Amino acid sequence: MKNLLMTPGPTPIPEEARFAMAKSIIHHRTDEYSEIFKELSKNLKYLFKTENPVITLTSSGTGGMEASVANLFSKGDKVVVVSVGNFGERFVKLCDIYGLEVVKLSYNWGEAAKANDLKEVLAKEEGVKGVFLTHHETSTGVLNDVKSFGEILKGTDILFVVDTISGLIANEFETDNWGVDCAVAGSQKGFMAPPGLAFVSLSEKAQKALDKSDLPKFYFSFKNTLNRLPEGQNPTTPAVNLIIATNEACKMLKKEGLENVTARHKNLKEAVAIGIKALGLEFFVKDEAVRGNTVTAVVAPEGVDGQAVNNTMRDKYGITIAGGQGAIKGKIFRLGHLGDVDRFDVLSLFSALEMTLNDLGYKGFEAGSSLKAIQKYYLR
Ligand SMILES: *Cc1c(COP(=O)(O)O)cnc(C)c1O
Repeated sequence: MKNLLMTPGPTPIPEEARFAMAKSIIHHRTDEYSEIFKELSKNLKYLFKTENPVITLTSSGTGGMEASVANLFSKGDKVVVVSVGNFGERFVKLCDIYGLEVVKLSYNWGEAAKANDLKEVLAKEEGVKGVFLTHHETSTGVLNDVKSFGEILKGTDILFVVDTISGLIANEFETDNWGVDCAVAGSQKGFMAPPGLAFVSLSEKAQKALDKSDLPKFYFSFKNTLNRLPEGQNPTTPAVNLIIATNEACKMLKKEGLENVTARHKNLKEAVAIGIKALGLEFFVKDEAVRGNTVTAVVAPEGVDGQAVNNTMRDKYGITIAGGQGAIKGKIFRLGHLGDVDRFDVLSLFSALEMTLNDLGYKGFEAGSSLKAIQKYYLR
């Protein structure tokens, strides 16, 4: 049985990146390594749409989130954390742990955040030092309108920190034009690379804030990392093979063209939506306009356990999808369409989903109906 990953990270990885992982290790204090790391850092700027530096940390995406709190702020700083799901809550926890004063702006899971609400919060709260927002909330599949939040914060002293870990590449994102001071991404999401690297962009405003921050850090010091960036070096031993593999994947993304990559993900999302409708299933995110290109959350039909859908898909049909997190565990399942995924992967996904639903006793559709509808969409 073949295995196919249809999750919002990790994603399938192209051969070029996988083969790079298998190469002999090279030493990092060499010109050979520096050239590769410089190239990756340049490719990151292209993908982030920024003229500012993008640093690479050896950690998963959460390490980048935590480091952004520890490097940009000081104990007792007041920050607004916008939360629309599980990953928004992660920023709340991180800010709490580092002793920041958190003003929470939260929404029901499945809904998107509204920039006007932030305006109201900022009118009431004095001395806000930062705003945290999730671009694409992976637990629900909601895409927040980062641009409209950035417009409110432009020209202020407030630092705008965005978790675009699952948002970047698959969805439109403009670090500089949207006024994002610190954007965090991760290698196992849109980069179609293995897990283990976090990427963080830093605007001039963010770089200035590094000197003021009094929170403890050593390994994750942005200043130390930034200082070594121009020479293509890292303060400590980097994950050399991961960096080489991610650079290979970035080269492929560049060759396809960022706009084309994003458009491919949009098409995948639309194909998945057509399949869901053909099966008579319900979307977890009701407003079509705020559904991202990364993952689609589906409400498990009456009498069917969402977790059982996952288990059957994986164990019987070899396709791994994602489950519900937190309060919606077992109530939904999530279909990832991220990374090295093409339109025929979506057909495999729906073929397995139809058989799974049939196995679990859901009879609300005619066999093959989703495949037929998706093919029709492809032929259009
Ligand atoms: C995956 C993800 C994270 C966490 O990343 P890890 O690499 O698992 O640490 C954070 N935020 C969002 C939106 C994500 O999708």
